[in-house]
Amino acid sequence: MSALDELPPLRDVIRRHELSARKSLGQNFLLDLNLTGKIARAAGPLDGVTVVEVGPGPGGLTRALLAEGARVIAVERDARALDALAEISERVPGRLEVVAGDALALDLSALAARAGGGGPVRVVANLPYNIATPLLIGWLSAEPWPPWYDALVLMFQREVAERIVATPGNKVYGRLAVLSQWRSEPKILFDIAPSAFVPPPKVTSSVVRLVPRAKPLPCPQPALERVTAAAFGQRRKMLRQSLKMLVADPTPLFEATGIAPTARAEEISVAGFVALANALADAVRGKPVPAALPQP
Ligand code: SAM
Repeated sequence: MSALDELPPLRDVIRRHELSARKSLGQNFLLDLNLTGKIARAAGPLDGVTVVEVGPGPGGLTRALLAEGARVIAVERDARALDALAEISERVPGRLEVVAGDALALDLSALAARAGGGGPVRVVANLPYNIATPLLIGWLSAEPWPPWYDALVLMFQREVAERIVATPGNKVYGRLAVLSQWRSEPKILFDIAPSAFVPPPKVTSSVVRLVPRAKPLPCPQPALERVTAAAFGQRRKMLRQSLKMLVADPTPLFEATGIAPTARAEEISVAGFVALANALADAVRGKPVPAALPQP
């Protein structure tokens, strides 16, 4: 029996530390050890790996990650969870660092680098649903590339997971799919039913693994963001119309890429958007760059 097995059941931890779930913090706790173990194994093997976990809460997934051999840096915004996490930390000296703070505001790559270890760094988390997409966009926008992590293994609402892996022609294919698939190979690993959480969310969740591409198709990311924002911002319109948001006359973009001006955003592959972004970067080189459009 390991020191982790001697920890009290998570329900007791939640009761003792008065961790009643707060919606504002996206709290849906996973208390089923079979499922936390399944997620940790999906992220594994974890021997010699430093895992950055966002939102450990009462520490169910944290325990599973430690049991699989990881060293964990856990970033938690809810101060009420810190004592519960300290109880885990005491059982595994030197293997769990708890950082109190907002994962959106902290530089997680710097935290991982400071922790040292020298081995691979992986991000594994049951994400708070209200900040899951901005966190993912931040990780996929990391510079330099390849990034500071070797994989992201993340739980999202199923609807977000589907947007990440969507392909052209799918009605949820959009900016998130293009960014995700340009920089990584995403895969939905498995679903988790609402009943597995306390409290149960309204929708099914999915665990997604994103493995960074060593060499994404070369392209300036700001140009890719502008092209996808303009194209999907008016997804029913033909590109010859929607791309006028970026340049008065988009004809050179179609000539440079061979993409039909009558095509619509949802028909364009990731490679097609990369080509359009490179053509846009060429077209505006030396000219004032249009203002960045809002995030998806
Ligand atoms: N990992 C735990 C589990 O699986 O049971 C809890 C997951 S719960 C869906 C999301 C967690 O993220 C909560 O513990 C919440 O307090 C935390 N959280 C919410 N916003 C955060 C933020 N901005 N930075 C860090 N943690 C945050």
